Amino acid sequence: MKFSIDGLVRPNISSLVPYSSARSEFSGEAEIYLDANENNFGSAAENGLNRYPDPLQRALRKSIAKYYRIAEDWVFLGNGSDEAIDLLYRIFCRPGVDEAIVCPPTYGMYETAASINDVRLREVPLDAEFQIDVAGVLQSLNTLTRLVFFCSPNNPTGNLMRREDIITISRSARCIVVVDEAYIDFADCPSLISEISEIPNLVVLRTLSKAFGCAGLRIGIAIAAPQLIRLLNAVKPPYNIATPNARLAINALQEQDTVRKWVREIVSERIALADELSTCRCVETVFPSDANFLLVRFRDSAAVYKFLLSRGIVTRDRSQLPGCRNCLRISVGTPEENVALLQAINEFDCL
Ligand SMILES: *Cc1c(COP(=O)(O)O)cnc(C)c1O
Repeated sequence: MKFSIDGLVRPNISSLVPYSSARSEFSGEAEIYLDANENNFGSAAENGLNRYPDPLQRALRKSIAKYYRIAEDWVFLGNGSDEAIDLLYRIFCRPGVDEAIVCPPTYGMYETAASINDVRLREVPLDAEFQIDVAGVLQSLNTLTRLVFFCSPNNPTGNLMRREDIITISRSARCIVVVDEAYIDFADCPSLISEISEIPNLVVLRTLSKAFGCAGLRIGIAIAAPQLIRLLNAVKPPYNIATPNARLAINALQEQDTVRKWVREIVSERIALADELSTCRCVETVFPSDANFLLVRFRDSAAVYKFLLSRGIVTRDRSQLPGCRNCLRISVGTPEENVALLQAINEFDCL
């Protein structure tokens, strides 16, 4: 049986007549714009910002599609990937009825967005190596499952999921499989974007928030088959990407050499930091990472967390997550910041 997403879409979304804005009805060039109740005298912010943004974000979508080497109609742009996550729930999950699967410990937004949308989550914990429990996921799939979320490299554990596991599950699941690749730029592994044309139920999430250093811009990307992209665009708020953000994002995509240099430096700092941390007395385990952070198990994470704070260093306490007892998640900083971190931890060891 060929996979079709039609049967998965909520009925109210299937029959949705998307909001039609002034700028989506007329997108050509004209002399005089009197169609959108803008302020035609000017903008108090910056020249040009009196006009609404392009709801289809054509310029930025073109740059992003080129960067990922896919056609533009396979690209959705969200106000951060968090917006794409929320939209996927809203498109596919009937509140109080349909279900989604997540594999903890993982990114908290999949659960938060499920709660907001009143979607029941089935949790299939990652195994002892923080890998996907394939049999467990396959067993948890049922006729109400609409979405399965994987995160690779996973936040907060830092490791890549096995590519074959994601492909196996995507091929046998009759629902949408979302792979969040926010950290893939730091991993030595190709993106699953290469599989997207073969696996019609696969959605790959990317973001400019991490390797590109644009967390403040809020540009998230979903890559999927055009039918799914059309649904995302129909449900999103019409002007979800602000004009200056789109412009800055296009500029950022021109800085690929800088980004590649940062990625190399961050990865080499990550390797050095992991080495150094593993020799510290207060450290029990430094988990292998394919991302720009390390998950570190301490003997007493609460004490280390507090001590680091007293030295002006903030880390992320993940100790309450399943499988993450006594763990802090530590972003890889600049060489100077990493030295300061190691100095503080050595100081802690000498207490
Ligand atoms: C940081 C992060 C993102 C990025 O979210 P944005 O909304 O695009 O900033 C997405 N997924 C995971 C797992 C992350 O850790």
